[in-house]
Amino acid sequence: MKKAVIVFSGPSGAGKSTLINYLLDNYNEAGLTTSHTTRKPRIGEKDGVDYYYVSQDAFQDMVNAGEFIEYVKCYGNMYGTSKKAIDIVLYNKNICILDLDYEGAYKVLENNLLPYKCFGILILPPSIETLKKRLIERNSENEHELATRLTNSFQIRLIANYKYVIINDDLDISKKCIDNILTSLS
Ligand code: ADP
Ligand code: 5GP
Repeated sequence: MKKAVIVFSGPSGAGKSTLINYLLDNYNEAGLTTSHTTRKPRIGEKDGVDYYYVSQDAFQDMVNAGEFIEYVKCYGNMYGTSKKAIDIVLYNKNICILDLDYEGAYKVLENNLLPYKCFGILILPPSIETLKKRLIERNSENEHELATRLTNSFQIRLIANYKYVIINDDLDISKKCIDNILTSLS
């Protein structure tokens, strides 16, 4: 199998993490990059696993040193994918998964920034109401953060950049979609 990079995006709560975790659990040849962020860790999140949690200054130093392939400001925090993070995954694995907001995904997908086959998968909720319910039940954001994330979800744009769109209604069907996409790579 040739090395490939898959970019996942979608509104917060659509089910990206759920489907990425399914993919990672079932496909040994896939690995997820660890991004850098200035956001504080949520309960249960680990530095170096979920993200590298860095200060604003440390993040800016990396920007200045040209270490990021893309970086954005999202929900008031900085998020970035370092070139090294991709290299680390592709050193051992054939498929590198990126979990990016729309802007970061646009940069990577539109500009052919990587010397690998690279395509996007957009995960969408069946409805905005479902999205709201899932986010409330996940219970990981305060009321203000939740409102921002829901407002942002209406900015579902740039769909043309994504090769696949999965409407994540029935989770089993979404997992089958992931299986079909991965099978088509081999
Ligand atoms: P994201 O990573 O896009 O923010 P998550 O994967 O954390 O979203 O999913 C948000 C919540 O919705 C989680 O509690 C998850 O268990 C749940 N969820 C994900 N997919 C489905 C689905 N198809 N049906 C019902 N609940 C789902
Ligand atoms: P969260 O705070 O919920 O972990 O992530 C918020 C948003 O940041 C999500 O939409 C996620 O896809 C995005 N994100 C996480 N890491 C990166 C990254 O390295 N670059 C970009 N562009 N977006 C990221």
